[in-house]
Amino acid sequence: MNKTIVTAAVTGSVYTPDMTPYLPITPEEIANEAIRSCEAGAAIAHIHARDPKTGFPSADIELYRQIVERIREKSDIIIQITTGGFLTMSFEERTATIPALKPEMASFNMGSMNFLVPNRPETKSAIFANTFTDLENLVRMMKENGVKPEHEIYDPGMLSNTRLLINQGLISEPVHLDFVLGIRGGIEATPEALLFLKQSADRYFNNYTWSVCAAAQYEFPMVTVGMILGGNPRVGMEDNIFLSKGVLAKSNAELVDKVVRIAGELGKEIAGPDEAREILGLKRPAARG
Ligand code: ZN
Repeated sequence: MNKTIVTAAVTGSVYTPDMTPYLPITPEEIANEAIRSCEAGAAIAHIHARDPKTGFPSADIELYRQIVERIREKSDIIIQITTGGFLTMSFEERTATIPALKPEMASFNMGSMNFLVPNRPETKSAIFANTFTDLENLVRMMKENGVKPEHEIYDPGMLSNTRLLINQGLISEPVHLDFVLGIRGGIEATPEALLFLKQSADRYFNNYTWSVCAAAQYEFPMVTVGMILGGNPRVGMEDNIFLSKGVLAKSNAELVDKVVRIAGELGKEIAGPDEAREILGLKRPAARG
């Protein structure tokens, strides 16, 4: 049985500094949270940038560059950059990091959807647009730059969109999926929904790896069910800012610590970054030797 790969999604684009003082905002803070998460057991850091002045999501390539360079200097963790950004950003803004920074992995949102962020009223009338043309363009961009996609599955139809890319010869198996549960606009965060996605993926793919993440209070219950089903957990302040009911996580490493403890109780061994590279079929980035 493969070891368990923990992803730390350290800041994301949903929570804001007024909701928790512990959210990393500056490139240095974001990089340090990724480095500390790795020390706690995370093998992948899922990265968004924030505007250091406002705390809001940013598409500024220089901020991303600073984050990536600092992490690479100090840690072996696999860097996975978002291409979701924030849903009011254009496709071009969201994907500019791929050719510029060539991360080992990047998220790849597998379809268009409503995506309500409760504290951002403008998201009520916005669409998170990922058209078939966008998917084809992004998959080519990732291939050209040697970036492994993590296919973000917010809804069952996004599995068939992933299968379509295989049928078109644009990607090949094994694919790596991430089931994203509990977004308003996507599938709910329940064991039944997760089992349905897993069983659907079993029908669509011959060879795949997968992780699960879930919004807010559903994070730990759902990643636990995911691990029982053989999946990998993603935790972090992108998805959830609480360590337990009413107790804010003071760092992403605390959230990683907790999921490592749960994994241990379930008899799972945690993969280090290089073991995760092997499981995911990644090549070590040339720059790091
Ligand atoms: Zn993200």
